[in-house]
Amino acid sequence: MYDVIIIGGGPAGLNAAMVLGRCRRNIVVFDTAKPRNRWSKNMNGFLTSDGMNPKDFIEKGRAELAKYKVEIKFKKIETATYSKGQFVVNDEDGTVYHSKKLLLATGLKDILPEIEGVESLYGTSVHHCPYCDGWESQDKAIAVYGKERKGVGQALGMKTWSESVTLYTDGTDGLTRSDRELLKRNEVHVITEPIARLEGEDGKLQYIVLENGERHEQQAMFFSTGSTQQSDLGNQLGCEFTSKGVIKTRRLQQSNIPGLFVAGDAARDVQMVIVAAAEGAKAGVAINKDLQLESRK
Ligand SMILES: Cc1cc2nc3c(=O)[nH]c(=O)nc-3n(C[C@H](O)[C@H](O)[C@H](O)COP(=O)(O)OP(=O)(O)OC[C@H]3O[C@@H](n4cnc5c(N)ncnc54)[C@H](O)[C@@H]3O)c2cc1C
Repeated sequence: MYDVIIIGGGPAGLNAAMVLGRCRRNIVVFDTAKPRNRWSKNMNGFLTSDGMNPKDFIEKGRAELAKYKVEIKFKKIETATYSKGQFVVNDEDGTVYHSKKLLLATGLKDILPEIEGVESLYGTSVHHCPYCDGWESQDKAIAVYGKERKGVGQALGMKTWSESVTLYTDGTDGLTRSDRELLKRNEVHVITEPIARLEGEDGKLQYIVLENGERHEQQAMFFSTGSTQQSDLGNQLGCEFTSKGVIKTRRLQQSNIPGLFVAGDAARDVQMVIVAAAEGAKAGVAINKDLQLESRK
């Protein structure tokens, strides 16, 4: 039986593993190696590692864990249950593992706008997070994509980085009169025509082409189309979710299930690498404290 099973080997899971490894805990990390930012070449906004390649960051993290007793298994966990103070998980081969505590650090995945040409530009000039990629898009012609009213907040927010912001609602017209007035006052252009495709080269967006044939020169696009949990394990275990689809946690990443902790994007908070890593550290400390108390004579 492991002290702790960590599911997810992104920044949250690896940082938890670091803290728990240093506490001499017997732990295993399961990972399918699909971190949310794998589309991107730069991880921005992480002090000391600003702009680092996300792949290099994860590889460096794994290498730093080598001196601790941390096992990493590149397997998918298909099911997880909790019963009588014990967690039981099954990997994709049907192998069963047991632990006293469980940390879910399985992250989120983004729902990309369904437009031809998005995938080849995603992570380079098409983004969802202004805190991650706003600086790199500063003073560019920025498009914001959001159907109905979903892009209004994002479009107004992007004025922090550029004077030239255009909101595309892609064939929908859910903007209220006050939305339109607010956008106009803040000099955000609005295009409601359906989009046919995005065109660009080497990952750089050049044109948004409308179904009516118009071609709009744009250099970056930010979208508001939401995200979902990367795994169903939180559901299986009976976690409580917020209305935005992330798992509710308390101050030290505790969930509503005893012994189950959730860290990183899967849990509620700012979705950035440094926050995910910090939540992993918080969960590691809380888990170790619980284990200390439980083993005290
Ligand atoms: C395009 C893009 C660019 C971004 N740029 C930045 C940036 O510049 N700066 C920044 O701070 N943030 C950035 N982010 C956000 C950042 O990616 C996340 O905040 C961060 O990855 C969250 O870390 P995490 O450990 O919670 O989850 P993740 O990094 O998503 O890691 C979760 C891990 O769990 C694994 N996993 C999931 N389910 C299972 C399972 N059932 N069994 C085993 N393993 C499983 C996955 O394969 C993955 O390796 C960006 C996101 C995107 C999409």
